[in-house]
Amino acid sequence: MEKVLLVRYTEIHLKGLNRPYFERALVDNMKRALRGMEPVIEREHGRIYVRNISDENFAEALDRLTRVFGIHSVSPASAVDKDWETVVSAALSLMEERVKDAAPGTTFKVLARRSDKRYMYNSDTICRELGGRVLERFPGLKVDVHDPEIKLSVEIRDNAYVYCDEIKGANGMPTGTAGKASLLISGGIDSPVAGYMMAKRGLTLSAVHFYSYPYTSERARDKVVELTKLVSKYAGEIKLFLVPFTDIQMTIYEKCPSKETTVLMRRLMMKIAERIARGEGAMALITGESLGQVASQTLEALAVTNDAVSMPVFRPLIGFDKDEIMDIARRIGTYETSILPYEDCCTVFVPKHPVTKPRLEDLRASEAAVDFSDMIEKAIENTEIMTIK
Ligand code: ATP
Ligand code: MG
Repeated sequence: MEKVLLVRYTEIHLKGLNRPYFERALVDNMKRALRGMEPVIEREHGRIYVRNISDENFAEALDRLTRVFGIHSVSPASAVDKDWETVVSAALSLMEERVKDAAPGTTFKVLARRSDKRYMYNSDTICRELGGRVLERFPGLKVDVHDPEIKLSVEIRDNAYVYCDEIKGANGMPTGTAGKASLLISGGIDSPVAGYMMAKRGLTLSAVHFYSYPYTSERARDKVVELTKLVSKYAGEIKLFLVPFTDIQMTIYEKCPSKETTVLMRRLMMKIAERIARGEGAMALITGESLGQVASQTLEALAVTNDAVSMPVFRPLIGFDKDEIMDIARRIGTYETSILPYEDCCTVFVPKHPVTKPRLEDLRASEAAVDFSDMIEKAIENTEIMTIK
C-alpha cells in the first residue's frame, strides 16, 4: 500500500483548449509549494496524484496543498492494486482507524467511482459488496446513505484509491495564469486580504509599501514584511518594494490644504506604485479599499485617487463590510499580524477634518502647486526590494 494525495481541481475544467495550460500551471505551483519534499506529481482524468511524500512530511504537504489556488480539495488516500480482496483489506484497515473511538451506531456510506469500465464490479456493486464487508467486520456501524458520519470512498482507476477524508482547498485559479498586478500593502487588515483575493483569481503579485521613517517604526515595516510572507503562502513568491515616503508626506503636510492631505497622499502613492508596477510588467494595481469605510474611500475620494493613474485598479473588497473582511483575514491567517499596534504612515498624518467629497479640479490644482517630481524620483531610487517566499 502506498500513501498518496489525491487532488481535485476547480474551474480549470471550464477553460476548453487552454486547459492543458492551466493544468500545467497548477502542477508547477504544487511543485513549488512542496519544494524540498521530492513529490512525484501525475495528472490523470481530471485528477492529480501526489506520490512519494514521506510519512513525516505527509501532514505538512497536505496543509501546503490546501493553500494552492486552483485546488478544490485534497484526499489523503491509500493506493493499492485493483485486485478486489486487496481493495477490501485496504478499506477495512482505513475504517479500523476511523471506528476505533467511534460510538456504537456511528453511520457510514460507501461511495464508488470507476473509470476502468472493464473492472469486475460496477459502482453499485462495489458499494454493496464493500458495505457488506464493512458491516461484517464492524457490526456496531450503521449505514446512512443521506447524511453519513463516515464516507468511505473507493475509486477504481489505474490503481484503486481508498480514502475517507476530503479536505477543502483554496479554490480559485492557478497563480500566474491571469498575469501580474501590484498590491499596495499597508500594515492594516484590508490590503493583505485584497492581495489574497486577487491572487486567488490567478494573478501573480508584487507588493509596494510606503513607510515614513522615523514617523513609522522599524517594527511597522517588519510587520508589512511578515504580512507579505503570509500572503505569499497562498500567492507564491512576491517581490516587495519598500518605498521611503517621508519627504513626500512631510511636503504634503506642510504645503497642501490640511483637509486634502490624505487624498493627496493616496494619489502620490498610486502614481509611484504605477511606475513600479510598469517596471515589473504588472498591468494593474490592487488596493484594500472598501466603499465608505473612511473619508478617503467615499466614491468622490476614490474617483480622485483613480484619476492619478491610468492602469486598472482592482478593489476586490469594495462591496465588503469590515466584519466580512475580518472573517477572511482570520481564515487566511493574516488577522493576528494585522492587528499588531504599530503605527501606519496614514494614521500618523491623519487630518482632523478630512474632505469627504473632494473635487477633482481642486485636488489636481493642489497637487500641481507643488513640484513633487524630484521627490518621486528620489523615492523610487531609494526603494528597497525584497523577494518574499
Ligand atoms: P488597510 O487595512 O489595508 O490598511 P485601510 O482601511 O487602513 O486599509 P487606508 O489607510 O485608507 O485604508 O488605505 C487604503 C488602501 O491604500 C489600503 O488598503 C492599501 O491598499 C493602500 N495603502 C494605505 N497605506 C499604504 C501604505 N503605507 N503603503 C502601501 N499601500 C497603502
Ligand atoms: Mg491602512
